[in-house]
Amino acid sequence: MSYTYSEYLIHRQWMYHALQLAQIAGETGEVPVGAVIIDPSGNLLAECENRKERDQNPTAHAEILALKAAANKLQTWRLNQCTLYVTLEPCPMCAGAIVQARVGLLVYGVDDPKTGAIRTVVNIPDSAASNHRLRVIGGILETACRQQLQMWFANRRHRTE
Ligand SMILES: [Zn+2]
Repeated sequence: MSYTYSEYLIHRQWMYHALQLAQIAGETGEVPVGAVIIDPSGNLLAECENRKERDQNPTAHAEILALKAAANKLQTWRLNQCTLYVTLEPCPMCAGAIVQARVGLLVYGVDDPKTGAIRTVVNIPDSAASNHRLRVIGGILETACRQQLQMWFANRRHRTE
């Protein structure tokens, strides 16, 4: 998918915001993943980070929390005019929820070779089970998103050794 240079700068700006949220998660012992949802006018609707450990909730991924918060704010579950930014390629659960919410555009940072469900391991949005054509941009601030995760995992290994 193509985008203009000014769109690219906006994507970078919101991805940087998501990276900062991910950093907060990482510092509290969560896998660092952050998500932001923007309305069609470019306003911030939701900003969430992974809370799985803190909430002891298997569904408390950043994307799920952000979708809930944005739908709540707009008082509609249909987010077809909205853009979701997330630092890591969504897992199957989140990819399913993004399709259910009819998100207009998904922008993510780095591919997830383990559970990426947008294109890397499986492709939920383009599968027969999907009733929504999702526009996707991957690789925004890719290096920073990858390094954040790698450093977090390296740090954790270091502590448990
Ligand atoms: Zn997920």
